[in-house]
Amino acid sequence: MKTKIIREDCIACGNCNAICPDVYDYDEDGIAYCIVDNNEMKDEILEKYYSLVLEAQENCPTEAVYVEED
Ligand code: SF4
Repeated sequence: MKTKIIREDCIACGNCNAICPDVYDYDEDGIAYCIVDNNEMKDEILEKYYSLVLEAQENCPTEAVYVEED
């Protein structure tokens, strides 16, 4: 599984970081990004985070959490 934030769609609500802070953080403007690989969709997410990543995706109000499953 890989994930990134579609940053132009993020409205800085904070949900993804609240749900899965080991995968999502936000910059000084509050716009989220994936901290695992600096939002570049290069690195696989550890399996232990899969359910939280999907929960973050479900709870993003603008569908800005992009997830690519294997
Ligand atoms: S849940 Fe969506 S809108 Fe909210 S901070 Fe994360 S990416 Fe941005």
